[in-house]
Amino acid sequence: MRNPFGWFKRERIQCATHGDQEFTLACVHICHALEHRRQVGFHWDPEAGGPRPEAWCADCEQWMVDHPDGTIDEVMKVADFQRLCVRCWDEAKELLDRK
Ligand SMILES: [Zn+2]
Ligand SMILES: [Zn+2]
Repeated sequence: MRNPFGWFKRERIQCATHGDQEFTLACVHICHALEHRRQVGFHWDPEAGGPRPEAWCADCEQWMVDHPDGTIDEVMKVADFQRLCVRCWDEAKELLDRK
């Protein structure tokens, strides 16, 4: 997927678990999967750069495969990207990345 997040400003967030952290973006399903320990898959764009690029689940990946011409608006609607602190991202990858 082309990376639609270049414009996204890198501010910091206050994570309920990890406190003041940098953040990245993950689809809402990954954010929920972290809470509920559900296996939803873990995908990212290896060309996005940075140690923790935006991540999305297997369902979102499938949607993007099915809709190669989907607009960013449509992708955002499906994935509903949320801010996720970088340490939560690490946990999500640990939990979900089973390739
Ligand atoms: Zn998703
Ligand atoms: Zn966190």
